Amino acid sequence: MPKQQGGLGVRNLSLHNKALMANLLSKLLSDSEGPCFSWLARRYLRDSIPQETSRGDTPFWRSLLALLPTVQNATRCRPSTGDKISFWHDQWTDLGHLKDRFSVLFTFAKDQHCTVRSQQRNGDWDIDLLLPLTDSAQLQLEQLMQRIHLIQLDGVGDEREMITTGKPPSTAAFYRLFSDRGMKWQPAEWVWRKAIPHRHKIFTWLSFRGRLNTKDNMTAKCWCSDAGCDLCPALESIHHIALHCKTSTWVWEKLNVAETAATSNTMAQFVTKIQALTGDSTWPTCFAACLLELWKARNDRIFNGRSMATATILMRIRETLRLWTCRSPKEGQRIMTWAQKLS
Ligand SMILES: [Zn+2]
Repeated sequence: MPKQQGGLGVRNLSLHNKALMANLLSKLLSDSEGPCFSWLARRYLRDSIPQETSRGDTPFWRSLLALLPTVQNATRCRPSTGDKISFWHDQWTDLGHLKDRFSVLFTFAKDQHCTVRSQQRNGDWDIDLLLPLTDSAQLQLEQLMQRIHLIQLDGVGDEREMITTGKPPSTAAFYRLFSDRGMKWQPAEWVWRKAIPHRHKIFTWLSFRGRLNTKDNMTAKCWCSDAGCDLCPALESIHHIALHCKTSTWVWEKLNVAETAATSNTMAQFVTKIQALTGDSTWPTCFAACLLELWKARNDRIFNGRSMATATILMRIRETLRLWTCRSPKEGQRIMTWAQKLS
């Protein structure tokens, strides 16, 4: 933990080592000079950037390669020679990873790990594909060519930069990434709120992480075979229970946000949209209380066979919010405004 946060400023050595290796790999993949980089490039990178190790690879190369997906996801590149940039797996255009954007075409690639350079012949793009292509692959090929036909390799030196900072990769930037401080998990600010009691914070955290035993998760673990909601013809996920299920729709109608709930795919989207609309920082607390009572009502239905009336669910949310206001008197007034809307 950093000193500024009350720690001793001691680094996590294992993470630090991982960050050093990632930085080394990003240097190798950006035309860095130096005998060690040249040797590794000559030995392992020839028209292709392998994602998997093969027999005979040194332990050093194996541990470098294990970090390749991380480096490719954390950086974007400006191809110049294109020797050290993966055509499909690196972000070297404004289209993101080509393997995701042109996923059908990607399945036709002769070498899915080819470099950018290997896909150019005499200054023109010539993508190695397994022919014949299906109609959708042909369509994606045309779309891809339209987007890259103006990109020329000028042969000066490939460059990489961190997506998080826009600066060249560094051990510090990778360390921040690995220690989760480089990436912000947005629901954190909705979960760890003063007004919410500790055990309910954990419940809210589990919900946003998708870790509750909803039927979609239980079927994935083979704990049950029916993933359907017991009230409506839909897959029972936490997003369904919170946003689209019959009972939740009643709650959101009462708050006049039913339409936003219906058009949001995830809870995070919904919370963000309503926060932007209302500008009220206590909204996530209201959402957490609604989520908690909707979950309890769902459990009561499934485990005890009791169907809770809408008025009862609304009354329980109001009561929960009223209890929570004691924990954060500053926000109490605004939290109670949400509770009143539910009466
Ligand atoms: Zn449902």
